[in-house]
Amino acid sequence: MGEKFLCDATCHRLAKWLRFLGIDTETTSEYRTYPLLRMAEKEGRILLSRNKAFLKIENPQVYVLRSDFIFEELKDVIEHFGIKNPLLFTRCIRCNSILERVKKEEVKGRVPYFTFKHFDEFKVCPHCNKIYWQGSHYELIKKRLMKEGIWEILF
Ligand SMILES: [Zn+2]
Repeated sequence: MGEKFLCDATCHRLAKWLRFLGIDTETTSEYRTYPLLRMAEKEGRILLSRNKAFLKIENPQVYVLRSDFIFEELKDVIEHFGIKNPLLFTRCIRCNSILERVKKEEVKGRVPYFTFKHFDEFKVCPHCNKIYWQGSHYELIKKRLMKEGIWEILF
């Protein structure tokens, strides 16, 4: 493991799923091929794109996605790069920062009352301040990955 990714404007949804898995994935709205390649090289990231124009440019730093279905794409990336045992739910879905564990008292008044009452473990994004907890959302994502046959490849 250890690959870092850059998703261009054609695959931002995939970026979100990679972040759920805890994989370092930046996004950009840039769509022009050469600026994208330069960006990926500069940041040491693998560029992920659906743009078929990249197939003509033979560059190991780019991986062209072959499916239009999000879970097939995700599976393809995981298998191609041999991603195993990722650290799930450790990154902010919104901005890719690594989440920090915070004390329960610190999120009081910042999360819905029900959530505060029923959960004890909270994480916060140091960059955008989004608060995370292992609620029903976590279970739904896990179930979805299992249903799509992705969980079994990862663990
Ligand atoms: Zn964030």
